[in-house]
Amino acid sequence: MNIHTSNEMFVVIGADLNVKYMNEAGRKAFGITGDQLSGIPVTNLLPGIEKDIGMNRESQAEFILSNHGREKRMRISIFPYEEDFVLVIKNTTSGDTVKGLVEQTKGGQQIMDEVTQRLLLSKEPKELLDHLFDQLADLLGLDIYFNYLADPKAQKISLINYKGIGHSEAKQWKQLEYGEAVCGYVAQLKERVVANHIPASSDPKLQRIKELGIQCYVCHPLIAGEEVLGTLSFGSKSREAFAQAEIYLIEKICEQVGHVLERMLIMEELQHKNRSLEKAIKEKEALFKLSLSLNKKFREIFHTSKDAMLLVCCANRGKPFFYEVNAAVVQLLGYTADELKKMPPKAIIAPEYQQIIDHVAQTIEQEKKMTVEVSWVKKDGEKIPVDLSISCHYFQERTYYLIIARDLTERKAFEQALIEEKIASERANLAKSKFLSMMSHEMRTPLNSILGYAQMIELKAQGTIHKHTGKIKNATIHLTNLINDILDYVGLEEGNSKVAKEPVNLVTIIQDSINMVMASAEINGVFITSNIHPASSLFVEGDPLRLKQVVMNLLSNAIKYGGTSGLVTVLYKEMKDKARIEVRDNGPGIHDHDLERIFEPFYRSDEVLNLTEGRGLGLSLVKEFVTQMNGQYGVESEKNKGTLFWIELPKANVTTEAPLAPFLKEKDKKNFKVLYIEDNEENRHLLKEQFKVFFNIELVTAADGLSGLKLVQEQRFDLVLLDINLPLMDGLQVCKKIRCLPEYQEVPIIAISAHALKKDIQYALESGFDDYLVKPVDIRSLKALIDQYIQKTATPALP
Ligand code: ADP
Repeated sequence: MNIHTSNEMFVVIGADLNVKYMNEAGRKAFGITGDQLSGIPVTNLLPGIEKDIGMNRESQAEFILSNHGREKRMRISIFPYEEDFVLVIKNTTSGDTVKGLVEQTKGGQQIMDEVTQRLLLSKEPKELLDHLFDQLADLLGLDIYFNYLADPKAQKISLINYKGIGHSEAKQWKQLEYGEAVCGYVAQLKERVVANHIPASSDPKLQRIKELGIQCYVCHPLIAGEEVLGTLSFGSKSREAFAQAEIYLIEKICEQVGHVLERMLIMEELQHKNRSLEKAIKEKEALFKLSLSLNKKFREIFHTSKDAMLLVCCANRGKPFFYEVNAAVVQLLGYTADELKKMPPKAIIAPEYQQIIDHVAQTIEQEKKMTVEVSWVKKDGEKIPVDLSISCHYFQERTYYLIIARDLTERKAFEQALIEEKIASERANLAKSKFLSMMSHEMRTPLNSILGYAQMIELKAQGTIHKHTGKIKNATIHLTNLINDILDYVGLEEGNSKVAKEPVNLVTIIQDSINMVMASAEINGVFITSNIHPASSLFVEGDPLRLKQVVMNLLSNAIKYGGTSGLVTVLYKEMKDKARIEVRDNGPGIHDHDLERIFEPFYRSDEVLNLTEGRGLGLSLVKEFVTQMNGQYGVESEKNKGTLFWIELPKANVTTEAPLAPFLKEKDKKNFKVLYIEDNEENRHLLKEQFKVFFNIELVTAADGLSGLKLVQEQRFDLVLLDINLPLMDGLQVCKKIRCLPEYQEVPIIAISAHALKKDIQYALESGFDDYLVKPVDIRSLKALIDQYIQKTATPALP
């Protein structure tokens, strides 16, 4: 269906009554060419039509036009359409010749007129066709009509209106292929089919209507231009044949229906086009409004933003320039907006960042968005650090770079302050650590004397003196423990305290720990039970010294906080891959809010602060050592019921312990000579006494490194005990010098020092010492060590 090529004349008139459009058929009829058309008043073509148009409703008018002496009869249908009017003009001249034929049919002309009238005004083909059929049925004795709509692309016709058959039959007739039955055939060939005396016909395409009892049948194609729009057919069950005039009447009616259908389709198409046009216009309008409001919004944001915002424009590979800058930029840089707009954008970038900006300029087109930290140079020359967020936009063949800058001056200053604070706190921490290790060193030397002499007196004395020296000894041990804890803690803070990972029999560890706290348990009236059996063993991976420290801490806490007449239970359990130690007491327990914090260094619960002495370091060392040994720790406590501390450590792969060294025999000690180099006279004297009284071994002493060196060159010693902190030449140097003497390369040299940090011990061992004892020296540990070396020297070398 095409309005331009339609056989009917279509004219569109504007509200000013000028012709806006006229299709080919119209131009032909009025004898006008395309260029003459626009703006011709319709009254020139159809004088008097303005009256009909003026009614502004659908109407009809008859006109007689004279063209080159020939008269043409026109029937004009006027349709108001929006502001315009659509005129559908039909040449009815030829109708006159057929008029007579139509008139032969009784009432035919009346129907024809009515149909034409209704057809032109109708918008509902179904209603029209039903009415038409009802009238024709009476006139021509019709029983049935079918109206199909064609789909030329699919080569199918679909039944859209019908009368005279049931719903189920209509379903079967719903769709026909081109060529199928009479209607399909008519649609395909665009030719009318008239079939009379159907019961006697053997034509296969009549078969279907024959089955319906139809005797005569006319089917017309509904044609617009070249196109078939559909078919319209009528049939009668009571009449055998249609007369010629009847057939002609039907033909004319079908022609009219065809025109109406064409008109309707055209109007529909017009409406559809109009609707989509309106939709497109509305969308465009909405977009336009949106872009306007966005643009307004953008400008608002741009000019009121507290962040500095700049719009750099670059037109067609030209030089970039500041297109717009906001007030924040002006305030930050000290230039006016006009000054900035005259400057190249790179002029505000500090020289050291020019390369970075060049790189950004090269890559921003691909990246679309980038952020970069640079320095801007203010008008007064001062530099300010800024964070630039740059995005790239295109508009009307220009590239715009929107730059949002954030002043980093405050943030940088804050960062710098933080760095300085950190350095200061690290320095303070280092100073604190140094102070603590220096203090502990200074305290160890006198403590060494106190402990040593107290032990000597305690071993020899009896009665009250024995009791009192025992107390002095215990106080010294307490002080020593305090120093040890502090040193361990300092070591942890500095990251120096590394734990060993070797197989350790935790049964021995627990047993030793219980033995060591037994005395204080007795004093506190606490009873210790455990499930250990002296002969049993359970090996874990860990550091024996640290593990003992952990168990001791847990045990001494249980005794300390478990309350008098308490019960402390120590259990060990073997699990799949690990072993667990539990220390349980039936003391007052720990509050929930304290439970969360007791593993923090120096934390002590309010309840114990004034009741028991402590340092708040024990559990933080437990936590640290157990973690370093790849273990876990934990605590459970119930108020007034007691507390359970537990640790779990990975099991070791060994199941037996190394054999214990045999006890020292008196004969091995003969001729065993020991040299002790120590500047502190008190300590020299103490060790000399201890050697004489407890070891029965001769101890030669030297007060400094040089005299010690002289002695080792003059005599042969089996063992050298060497202080580290010596005047003039320190112990490390003395050790190196002794090791240079050929006969002293294998002789054991043991450091005795107040330096107790792990890193000091490590360094000494790496510098040539065989062992290291920390002051105050425990007489038992010294004895065990000396026994070990005497044993070694006494054992004949293997062949
Ligand atoms: P210290 O015992 O020197 O105070 P710890 O680190 O060993 O330091 O313990 C920290 C705190 O945990 C203690 O001060 C105490 O408040 C609490 N605590 C530890 N063990 C127990 C326990 N068995 N019963 C009750 N409270 C305990």
